[in-house]
Amino acid sequence: MKKLINDLIQLQELYEARAQQEMLAGREHLGELERAIREMLVGVPPETASLFQRLQQRSPPAIVPMVNNVCGGCGMAIPISQVHAIHAATALHTCPTCARLLYFLDTSAPRRVPGKRPGVAGVRVGIARYTSPELMIPSLEATDRDGTILEICSMLETQGFVTDGRRLAEAALRREAMASTAIEHGLAFPHARGIEGGGLTLALAVSPKGVRFDGGGRAGLTRIIFFVVIPSAASAFYLRLLAGLTKTLQGDAARRKLMEAETREKLWKALCQLTRKTIL
Ligand SMILES: [Zn+2]
Repeated sequence: MKKLINDLIQLQELYEARAQQEMLAGREHLGELERAIREMLVGVPPETASLFQRLQQRSPPAIVPMVNNVCGGCGMAIPISQVHAIHAATALHTCPTCARLLYFLDTSAPRRVPGKRPGVAGVRVGIARYTSPELMIPSLEATDRDGTILEICSMLETQGFVTDGRRLAEAALRREAMASTAIEHGLAFPHARGIEGGGLTLALAVSPKGVRFDGGGRAGLTRIIFFVVIPSAASAFYLRLLAGLTKTLQGDAARRKLMEAETREKLWKALCQLTRKTIL
């Protein structure tokens, strides 16, 4: 049963990757992702596969973790008898409220630190709902993709937003392996899903020299990296945030503004200014 649950979690990632790819890069990589989804579905019992697809169509994500005895999808409490059964994972269980499939989140998995909220001086509007001046890196030291992701994740841990930067980086790299999140204009959107305990959290890092994010693919060198920590319940918000960010950075002038910011504060100011009308 654990293998089936892991397969379904991976299937979920593939669906999310496809939705994101469709939005960001048009048809590129879509064929690969669709093939991977089909292959994965073949290994899942037919009733489970159709339940998964129904849930995925109606209210994605179809499978969510149970966190502190609460459904990670709808936030409702799970009856205690079911909590034990989900923990034991001898059968598949669904949330009595939202009907999503549930799994037990390993207690050592990286988490969002609940008390740590983004924003500055209590102001939480626009982009400040998701990020803070201390989550800006104006000049990355890393020179490759893995190092970049690790540097950002370590910073998220050091700043008190997540519990385990290293494992957060591992999750983001597993996602990159499915399909690169790098797109044209030197942008990349690496992320980790199912990180529970708080809201969407965004870090922005700039690489003055540029790093190869997609292994010599068409995206070229990546210079502006938005790393996002995504709790299960915020999947739809994430796609909206992503749409707002890509719209913001369509023009050269906007990207140059971020590239030219020399300090955290300047990068923060530039981001707030640029997203004033695109991220409300
Ligand atoms: Zn639920």
